[in-house]
Amino acid sequence: MIGNGVAFRTRSWIVLCLGFLTVSSPAALAADCPGHPGALGTSRTLVVDPHEHPRIGTMQYRETLPLKDHEVVLTFDDGPLPKNSNQVLQILADECIKATFFIIGEQAKANPEGVRKLVAAGHTVGTHSMTHPLTFNKMPLDKAEAQINGGIEWTSAAMTDPSKLAPFFRIPGLMRAEGVENLLISRGIQVWSADFPADDWRHISSDRVYQLAIQRLEAKGKGILLLHDIQARTVAALPKIIRDLKARGYRIVHVVPATADQPATPTTAVEWLLHPPTETTPIARWPSVPNFVFTQTATLAAPGLADLNTQTAHQPQVLPRKTMAQADVAATLPAPGRDLFAIPEGSVEVLLSTTLSRRAANRLAMATEAPHAGKGKGKGKAARMQVPRTAHAAHPTPKRAAQAKSTAPRPTRVATGVKKRA
Ligand SMILES: [Zn+2]
Repeated sequence: MIGNGVAFRTRSWIVLCLGFLTVSSPAALAADCPGHPGALGTSRTLVVDPHEHPRIGTMQYRETLPLKDHEVVLTFDDGPLPKNSNQVLQILADECIKATFFIIGEQAKANPEGVRKLVAAGHTVGTHSMTHPLTFNKMPLDKAEAQINGGIEWTSAAMTDPSKLAPFFRIPGLMRAEGVENLLISRGIQVWSADFPADDWRHISSDRVYQLAIQRLEAKGKGILLLHDIQARTVAALPKIIRDLKARGYRIVHVVPATADQPATPTTAVEWLLHPPTETTPIARWPSVPNFVFTQTATLAAPGLADLNTQTAHQPQVLPRKTMAQADVAATLPAPGRDLFAIPEGSVEVLLSTTLSRRAANRLAMATEAPHAGKGKGKGKAARMQVPRTAHAAHPTPKRAAQAKSTAPRPTRVATGVKKRA
């Protein structure tokens, strides 16, 4: 299974390249499925490490497989049951689709050949307990363990090579329990829920199974589909589901467990969420702001005395630009009082921050500064506005004040930013 996965991934990579060249991935995938020109195929193999992501499936857990939009993982539970399971196998083979099967120990014991067929076809095989009791949520842990062990023992016993058994387990009926999950996780077994079922265990028509599968997939855009290969209605619905997946541009992903020879596919933590927060979600970006500010501050060179072009005798201490960082950190705190950023009406800063052109604003600034140059009152006003950033330049000359205005962020922009983040 693992070896096939590697080979398949290599072929998929080649197919992907061809897809870019021809802008026709269906044709490329058909080439990957000899004798079946219209096949949906399997677009890629995803290698997962159960230790890193022990619970998956948004029906019950926070995380799910790191799928891209329009990627689907097919899973089949409760087999093998020769009559229906063999038909499911044939349908998947005709489409060159690789899926994941969760085997019941008793079924493996009764139909070991069915397990071997799955392995030979390159599917991933996990387990689903020994007798499928729907009481995992309340049974004693030792009984749950016996159920888990029975499924593993009989499924691996049916295999020619027991190492082909994946450390994947789906709790019967999804009757989850913390103790059972912890037991599985402690043994390096990944707990699989799903992202959506198609209710194919209920007494509904195959058309309804098909509709539910597609509707629920469309609602989430990607994910793990839970089906049952032992159900005749699933056998009937599967070709239509696959046809529709192809028509709607979905791609099949094959999932295999990581091994010493095959490391997990590199992913980021956020990819394991079905719908990661977008760039426009403020709360997702919120915690990163203070770190970002301090990182930037650490890389900024502290200004030297020469930069100030002034006499050091009047400077008690030249501070680095740490106050900028402090000002920005403050912006991540609860919104300050409205008057904190109040600007006196008619001040130069108001003019600079309005829609006047910069040239016009500079002219006004120079004209306004000239009469106050020797009094200090106007300078004091400008200095108040610049306090967080230019506290070290307590006595700026008119020239330096103009420079500061052209380079320093505009005061009202800071206020606007704070309002947006609040
Ligand atoms: Zn089941």
